[in-house]
Amino acid sequence: MRRVVIAGLGDSGVLTAIKLARHADVVGISVKPGLVSGQELGWRLSRPRDWARHNWIPFESFRGLDRVQTVHGTLTGVDLAARKVFVERADGLTQSEPYDALVISTGVTNGFWRQASLQGPADVAADLRAAHERLEAARSVIVIGGGAAAVSSAANVARTWPDKRVGLYFPGERGLVHHHARVWERVRRQLVEFGVELHPGHRAVIPDGFDCDGITDEPVQFSTGQPTASSEAVLWAIGRVRPNTEWLPAELLDEHGFVRVTPELRVPGHRGVFAIGDVAATDPLRTSARNRADGLLVRNILAEFSNRPLRSFRPAHRRWGSVLGIQPDGLEVFAPNGKAFRFPAWSFERLLMSWVVRRGIYRGVRENQPPLT
Ligand SMILES: Cc1cc2nc3c(=O)[nH]c(=O)nc-3n(C[C@H](O)[C@H](O)[C@H](O)COP(=O)(O)OP(=O)(O)OC[C@H]3O[C@@H](n4cnc5c(N)ncnc54)[C@H](O)[C@@H]3O)c2cc1C
Repeated sequence: MRRVVIAGLGDSGVLTAIKLARHADVVGISVKPGLVSGQELGWRLSRPRDWARHNWIPFESFRGLDRVQTVHGTLTGVDLAARKVFVERADGLTQSEPYDALVISTGVTNGFWRQASLQGPADVAADLRAAHERLEAARSVIVIGGGAAAVSSAANVARTWPDKRVGLYFPGERGLVHHHARVWERVRRQLVEFGVELHPGHRAVIPDGFDCDGITDEPVQFSTGQPTASSEAVLWAIGRVRPNTEWLPAELLDEHGFVRVTPELRVPGHRGVFAIGDVAATDPLRTSARNRADGLLVRNILAEFSNRPLRSFRPAHRRWGSVLGIQPDGLEVFAPNGKAFRFPAWSFERLLMSWVVRRGIYRGVRENQPPLT
């Protein structure tokens, strides 16, 4: 059997590993001890236990990963000529992993909720609790940003703690600029209904040396001329993503540090090297994770092994999916054309998560969730 190394076991890496496991010897490497999804920030901050049940899943819980060898450690380099990657393991030892094919899926760093730091289960739980408790203790919250992470945070914080004063500050006339205009119209009404104060046209000044990786309490200044705004907690969700590619040679990267790929998700000039997910420069919005290119990638890896033609990834031009996450009245999912589909609350656990996600997408997940307490 051919050996495939999956570098980074997040949303895309896990799905790719599960699909490949029947066809190859798969080794997955990750700094986390399980899937710690970067999705649904608002849900994660306001109801972390509930979020964790669906978004923080130890690797041993995935039936589809039973045949996959997982290595808990940090990727530190690759030798493209010798076809191996180097890993500093969680136990401090270093090792190399040879491959016939390499999948680069190390994602991006974004805010405090998506960091490529080496963590054990207790660290993951502590992070989830700390951010929740910080917001819970604040009587007023400012959210900076107009993308899905900011909008969903403002909405979920306001809905979970109706007594808090919540303000959302964003630079444009509207939020969710990469979604269809209809999505913003609908979500804007919901934000107002939950009591979020909307402040369009506000571009916040990022404090010197601040990496947008925490919740602050300093007054916020705006380069667009409005008065300074203050609150007990300031959540920065301005989409300042950094690709997790420090471990890769510059020849694989574009000018912004993302991995260059062909439409077939191949890294040009390096047979057997592929990239997927937020780290892969597939299209301006880098949508191969949310558009589920993992199936195509697996087909292409196997096709390359047997010298068959590869297929191309076709990106969507707008963001789509859920924005606010599961709410007491159900889950709303937006199509690329802005149309909303609602799953009623009763169907979320019993149908959507249990059958579609856990069985359909992940091919079986055991219920042995680590406690968050
Ligand atoms: C099924 C599905 C549904 C989705 N639905 C939506 C939606 O509704 N709305 C929406 O906006 N988006 C959605 N998305 C997309 C989502 O927002 C992100 O695009 C996705 O989380 C990115 O996945 P990724 O694997 O590229 O990165 P990540 O999930 O961040 O995975 C990268 C992993 O690599 C690890 N890593 C990084 N560096 C190293 C290193 N040096 N050594 C070892 N490990 C390292 C990271 O810690 C992390 O665990 C969806 C994605 C999927 C798969």
